Amino acid sequence: MKRRMRSLCGLALLLGLLLLSGCAGKAPETGNRLQVLAAAFPEYDFVRAVAGDLAEITLLLPPGAEAHSYEPTPQDIARIGSCRVFVYGGGESDVWLDRILDSQSREGKTILSLMDCCALREEEIQAHMTVREEEEEEGEEPEYDEHVWTSPVNAIAITQAVRDALSAADPANSASYAANAEAYIRQLRELDASLRELVKGSARQLLVFGDRFPFLYFVREYGLRYAAAFPGCSSGTDVNPATVAHLIDLVRSEGIPVVFRCDLSAGKIADTIAEATGARVLTLWSGHTVSRDAFKAGETYLTLWAKNLEALKEALY
Ligand SMILES: [Zn+2]
Repeated sequence: MKRRMRSLCGLALLLGLLLLSGCAGKAPETGNRLQVLAAAFPEYDFVRAVAGDLAEITLLLPPGAEAHSYEPTPQDIARIGSCRVFVYGGGESDVWLDRILDSQSREGKTILSLMDCCALREEEIQAHMTVREEEEEEGEEPEYDEHVWTSPVNAIAITQAVRDALSAADPANSASYAANAEAYIRQLRELDASLRELVKGSARQLLVFGDRFPFLYFVREYGLRYAAAFPGCSSGTDVNPATVAHLIDLVRSEGIPVVFRCDLSAGKIADTIAEATGARVLTLWSGHTVSRDAFKAGETYLTLWAKNLEALKEALY
């Protein structure tokens, strides 16, 4: 929470400076293509799948940027002001984006939040997890897990919402957006079927993460269980020894063959658990952020899930 407050103070200063200098005006649109700004990688990738070449899509957070603690630049605020369609996650990491949107006119702009497309789940804290004091504050409103796209079923709902948002902003191309969305949803349904098949025949249902846990929507959709070191969007890296000891016991007692790490994490906790138990460390990709190299190489939601399927086979069989 303190981290978030700090970001927001910096943001208030930035917004003030922009108003004073008068440079928050609209940048001219380049070309005739629909200008879409996507905050983070998941929304960028869903828009890309539906828009194809029909839109000019810009990713706001640079590849490799830490999505949970990003500090906006004056250019970011101007880009949000000038885009025609803005797509963002809408969760706790994006409070700063809500502030920027509230400070600007929404006229003529289509805004889509991924969290508005899906049934939300409250972020979970397991008894053994390491939780930072500021994340534990009581009496607050429930915090919803923001990683809604980690369920392919939610990804289908998001794709439909992206199709509708693009069609509303650019009706002339709505038939193409509908056709692209349909083709992409067919691929998402295949992924969903593969995951159901995998879980149906599995030897176990428990996934162990020596890391934060952005996969709540995924495990709930497919009836899996999990144990993790930190909650969903935790920025913690210092883990309690008791958390590690619990996860090591669990891996031993349940004969768990794979300990997971997430996306761009250094994987130190997963390594420690693996060394103590003989389990292997594999990565499960949430796609919240991808590295610069992965972005350049054309990584997508579907290519990340192809890797996840292989890792899950190792973990569940
Ligand atoms: Zn995340």
